[in-house]
Amino acid sequence: MKSTIITIGDEILIGQILDTNSRQISQSLNAAGITVCERTSIGDDAGQIVEALDRALGQSNIVIMTGGLGPTKDDITKHTLTRYFGTELVYDERVGEHVRTMLARRGIEFNDLNRGQAMVPKCCTVLFNAHGTAPGMWFERGDSVVVSLPGVPFEMQHLMEDEVMPRLRSRFTLHSIVHRTMITSGIAESMLAARISDWENSLPKGLKLAYLPAPNIVRLRLSAYEVDGEEARSTIDREFAKLYKIIPGHIVGFEQATVQELVHRNLTDSGRTLAVAESCTGGTIASLFTAMPGASAYFRCGVVSYSNESKEEVLGVDAGDIARHGAVSEQVAKAMAEGVRRIAHADFGVSTTGIAGPTGGSPEKPVGTVWIGISTPEKSFAVMRDCGTDRSQIISRASAYAISLLYEQLH
Ligand code: ATP
Repeated sequence: MKSTIITIGDEILIGQILDTNSRQISQSLNAAGITVCERTSIGDDAGQIVEALDRALGQSNIVIMTGGLGPTKDDITKHTLTRYFGTELVYDERVGEHVRTMLARRGIEFNDLNRGQAMVPKCCTVLFNAHGTAPGMWFERGDSVVVSLPGVPFEMQHLMEDEVMPRLRSRFTLHSIVHRTMITSGIAESMLAARISDWENSLPKGLKLAYLPAPNIVRLRLSAYEVDGEEARSTIDREFAKLYKIIPGHIVGFEQATVQELVHRNLTDSGRTLAVAESCTGGTIASLFTAMPGASAYFRCGVVSYSNESKEEVLGVDAGDIARHGAVSEQVAKAMAEGVRRIAHADFGVSTTGIAGPTGGSPEKPVGTVWIGISTPEKSFAVMRDCGTDRSQIISRASAYAISLLYEQLH
């Protein structure tokens, strides 16, 4: 079953608000086995609404719209839908009473604008909005359904869950949509694609593969649309099992787990401990770990050693190394990881030292150069990563690289 989502509002088009409604509606429809074939955002304009509706009904049986229902927007969506379905507006007693009661509670007088909110197209089924004044509306045309919901996310969500989804389930015969995600690490997207191309080319018909790259990890998502759920899940399991033979050592998790969550689980289960020494990431790595409940089981300490003096005095980095190689260097990154591991009596030490910019770069060490140090019970080493050009991007990429390098050392 195919659907289209239309969100209405000039504020979306000018970038004043983020269209979170589309995302939430997509998730609800997907979970029920309904494919979303298009999401469109349009302005508060009758012509655009009609155009979008024609297109949506030409390609799908379910159309969900949000926004443009309030009295201040002149009920643009409602009036347009009334004309579109060749009907007229009638007063709905239940909605009228509800609007009157809601306004009275806030000490607002019921006026003509509010009375207008209780006017609904005669041919629609009213979806009662217990959390706001604008009701939802359900229209049918042949095999298709058009639903109009208020734009306020909280109201929209309640109506989707309480009214729309149960009605869609009983109105249409729905199948399943199955998504499963495998997380790989330590192999670049292009290399990964080359390594698994034979596997990818022989995937059973109906399975779709997506590559979702992030710093130092690539997620592989397999999706099956409108299928028998059980069967699709076991097919995907079988296909993922084959990957263990093709890319051994690169599979680090499943579904939406972040790499820090994988490290968190590993260290908690194995009873090993961690300490971090951060220069350019300024405490980001420590904060990613300590944001997770239970981090105290393994997280010993985090040092933000921004100045050369603190690298020397707190972490014991050799002043001569800093003078000879610079603070952003292999030697210093390695010494920082060893130093923090030593002072915290931890099993693992991680460090970062780099040039986050926008100034401070040089031809040999341009902005974005970051050395990441790792110290384990067996060895210490440092690797250099180019983390981009924008300061906040450099900080988050360097943190992600450091955490996934650490993860690779945990096995
Ligand atoms: P109301 O009658 O309360 O004004 P409405 O149906 O007319 O509701 P809009 O006026 O379009 O809806 O939007 C109301 C508010 O809801 C917006 O100011 C915005 O904050 C939020 N909103 C609208 N559309 C979206 C969307 N697609 N995603 C997220 N928020 C939205």
